[in-house]
Amino acid sequence: MLYITAGQQHTFFVRTVDKDFRITAQHSRNPSLVNVRGFRMQHPFSRRQFLATISAAGAVSVSSGAIAATAGTPPDPMVAYGEEADRIVDMHVHFDEKNPNFVDDLVKVTEPLNITACVLTPYVNRMVVSEAAKRHPARIVPFGYIEMDAPDALRQAEEFHALGYKGLGELEFVKKPFTDPAYMPVYELANRYSWVILFHTGIVLRQKFDEPEDVASYRMRAFHLEEIARRFPKITVLGAHCGNPEYEWAGEVARWNPNIFFDLSGSSLTKMRDRLADFRKIFWWTGTKWKTKTPEDDPNAFVKLVFGSDEGLDGIAPALAQYRAMFEACDVPIHTRKLILGGTLTKILGLTA
Ligand SMILES: [Zn+2]
Repeated sequence: MLYITAGQQHTFFVRTVDKDFRITAQHSRNPSLVNVRGFRMQHPFSRRQFLATISAAGAVSVSSGAIAATAGTPPDPMVAYGEEADRIVDMHVHFDEKNPNFVDDLVKVTEPLNITACVLTPYVNRMVVSEAAKRHPARIVPFGYIEMDAPDALRQAEEFHALGYKGLGELEFVKKPFTDPAYMPVYELANRYSWVILFHTGIVLRQKFDEPEDVASYRMRAFHLEEIARRFPKITVLGAHCGNPEYEWAGEVARWNPNIFFDLSGSSLTKMRDRLADFRKIFWWTGTKWKTKTPEDDPNAFVKLVFGSDEGLDGIAPALAQYRAMFEACDVPIHTRKLILGGTLTKILGLTA
């Protein structure tokens, strides 16, 4: 909660979709007014725009009444620098079968943030999401979830492809390690399609606390992705959760394989919130002699990350704020941030809408 009292001046940072604002709030002589100025902006925010900016950032909540409208016609905060906001790609949005309004809700959440969501879709929901993606090409990229151990996994993958799906994911709860020979036909098919595959990596939740289940995290360790990426170079291999807790393995296999990236969804950014700068130890090779192939030839090690939320629709804006906090803690350059948040996947997925 932010209260600004008479005579006080506050400077604080607000993170929006594509920009960081340094905002100075100064109480005016009239106690019902406060002047709010964004860094590099010539005009004050209106109260409505200020609140919209902050809520989009998900970083701070402002008590209503603390900030009143100011004079003048302020610009739209989303294009405050006179630039179009860059597209953000959220790699990790699970289709919610329990929400009958999922598609409409998704569009409502993603549109103001200029987010394109890769919607990870169970086979039974394939038609709904395929049609939604056609109606909302700027908001939805369809990804198909298949059970890798199902006897007809290959056929399901083919059908997803025929429906215009751009890849598979999130592959998880596998009965064998990701590199098991039984799964190779699916990877061969994905390689032929030049698909993107999102793999769960690292610790996985336990669905039933009191019943036996054939699930184990070691089958989904980040280092398995190396073999898949090397044997099937046309697949873009995305690892969810950065191998949690084996971040070092994730970083290293991403470093040497141009077709591997990781997202930081899940509990990691919460677990690491007081030591976010530690991610520099994982993505450590910026400025070293080991040059590898990266998007836009970006030399920063963090370019091996992509954005993924994995928190339901309400969790997308907070996940963005968490990524931005990590960017700050690790001094990730703006160019690299843009690639992480959407630039890399916009190109890989060929997004134009
Ligand atoms: Zn996962």
